[in-house]
Amino acid sequence: MKITLFKNLFCSLLYYSGFLWAYNKVARHSKRNYIIIVVYHNIRNKKLFSEHIEYFQKKYDVISLSESIELLSDDKNFNPKLVITFDDGYKNIYSVVKYITQNKIPICIFLSTYYIESGDIFWWDTFRMMAKKDKKLSRRLLQIEQTLTEMPQEERDSKIEELLQYYALDGKVYDFGSEMLPLSWKDVEKMKEYNVDFGSHSHRHYVLTNTRLNTMKGDIKINKELIEKKLSLNCQHFAYPGGYYNKKTIQILKEYGFVSAVTTKYGINTKNTDLFELYRIGISDEDWIPTVVVKLSGLWI
Ligand SMILES: [Zn+2]
Repeated sequence: MKITLFKNLFCSLLYYSGFLWAYNKVARHSKRNYIIIVVYHNIRNKKLFSEHIEYFQKKYDVISLSESIELLSDDKNFNPKLVITFDDGYKNIYSVVKYITQNKIPICIFLSTYYIESGDIFWWDTFRMMAKKDKKLSRRLLQIEQTLTEMPQEERDSKIEELLQYYALDGKVYDFGSEMLPLSWKDVEKMKEYNVDFGSHSHRHYVLTNTRLNTMKGDIKINKELIEKKLSLNCQHFAYPGGYYNKKTIQILKEYGFVSAVTTKYGINTKNTDLFELYRIGISDEDWIPTVVVKLSGLWI
């Protein structure tokens, strides 16, 4: 929380001092043909989030991911665009989607279907909640989370099971707030009526670079098929879980008929960007407007 506040204050300083305005004038002046793709996860602060949306609408032409792929693949020039995406499929997105789409803003939500099917909490949230509830363990659990993220999937599954059983005995873990829950198919079907597009985020959110080839293939296939069957749509876009991918992953996505994939690499997209390595800018629902502006400016790193 302290880091978030510091970050917001620092960005406010850049913003209100006029520095950012001058920087944007120089860096972006007369630049065309670029597309910013932002990514959100959980939306808890609806007020700040709606301010972000207002800012995007005021400053950019907000388009769908599919439209952005067409523009990047085409020879024609275009003015700066912005695309809004969400990863994982948290339930609390549901309450903001109606507001966004009522304002005719297209969005794409990348779903991890295992969690939608089972209603299970995403495994990393389980760890964060454990850390919150057990202060002594908080530092160690965050380290464990990183190790687990990069572990081969089979090993990770059994380790998680082991840890969950241990903590369940303690009775401290399972009183999650609804903010951690995944969307249900019912929610997703309803959102489809609001013209939301849905993309793949793998079935079980495995780190695909550490997963056996057959497991990776099966996981991507079941994810795509479930989304297409349940929602009667053509699922064309993929978001790499945790941002991990390699040449093999890209090859499989192409075999399965995906037309693009988004990463977690910070940057903006031009006609030179590989459509299977699209850059995104991560925005938190706790970011103040100056922080959003700094992130979008390219100054962040
Ligand atoms: Zn994810």
